[in-house]
Amino acid sequence: MALKLKSWGTSGPIPAPLNSESLKEKVLTVLRHAKGQDLSSEDALHHFLAKLPFPLQGTYKGNTNCIQILNETNEVLLCDAGSGLRAISDSLPKQRSTNTYHLFLTHLHWDHIQGFPFFKPAYQAGNKIIIHTLHREAEDAFRKIMEPPYFPANYDSLAADIEYNLIADGSSLQIGDLIVKTLRQEHPNHSWAFRFEQAGQAVVISTDSQHPENAASIDSYPFLEFFKAADLLVFDSQYSLDHIHGEKRTWGHSDAVTAVELAATAEVKQLILTHHDPADNDDEIHGILAIAEKHRSSYNQDKINRCNYPKEIKLAYDGLTVEA
Ligand SMILES: [Zn+2]
Ligand SMILES: [Zn+2]
Repeated sequence: MALKLKSWGTSGPIPAPLNSESLKEKVLTVLRHAKGQDLSSEDALHHFLAKLPFPLQGTYKGNTNCIQILNETNEVLLCDAGSGLRAISDSLPKQRSTNTYHLFLTHLHWDHIQGFPFFKPAYQAGNKIIIHTLHREAEDAFRKIMEPPYFPANYDSLAADIEYNLIADGSSLQIGDLIVKTLRQEHPNHSWAFRFEQAGQAVVISTDSQHPENAASIDSYPFLEFFKAADLLVFDSQYSLDHIHGEKRTWGHSDAVTAVELAATAEVKQLILTHHDPADNDDEIHGILAIAEKHRSSYNQDKINRCNYPKEIKLAYDGLTVEA
């Protein structure tokens, strides 16, 4: 089985689902497109829908950050506990051959931990939850968000066996034959990127990280080595170039152009852009893909070997599954 990623939450600092008015606008636009089209069968309906741009077929953001890493071990691997963690709780099969869940935390900002009190496996005796973190305050953070008056159930009422694995900066760990490497990122209160390797494949999750200008041309820039030849790279593209060149340069996030340059130089196969800005609507987020693809062409033109990495660029949405 190839490594796969499934996005359960892609919205940046706060959940930002569509409201009823925006949904009605989408439906109206779809109905306008439907005039004169063949809608006579179920197949014809699916065909019509598949031809529409993504913002008319779905929506890019709802829950905050949570990614599942589907892998050859029997255990459930998750990265970050944003509100998407509640959504995954409902999708996990009730009967499982093992009851171990690994939760990797990039950092402790609200949008990466707020789903934890809604993670159903934490309430079931017999389950084991191992929280892998480089932040010593992780247990304290989870206890605090479940203290009165913020939440009705107390942390001590969680029936699962919850263990904290405090990872030392720069170290790696192993789960079966899956190896996980870490890299410290520039972000308020620090965050860490994770690289998961199994059976010759590699997927990297690197969100909530700012990079210096022209990072890809800096000699020995550590992210180039960390991303090297990854099959999948999930990368934070919350900011526009205006943001990056303005006051938000040091606010701890990145952009699609930096994503493309780092992915191209590190020869990443597929780039997945995520941590969408809650202020952007679906059309605006969709525009980021065009910016990224255009920049990939011009950036690779300047390179001697013109390999056109990353081979594919995708925008993450809640429910997107990508195979390495
Ligand atoms: Zn975040
Ligand atoms: Zn953050």
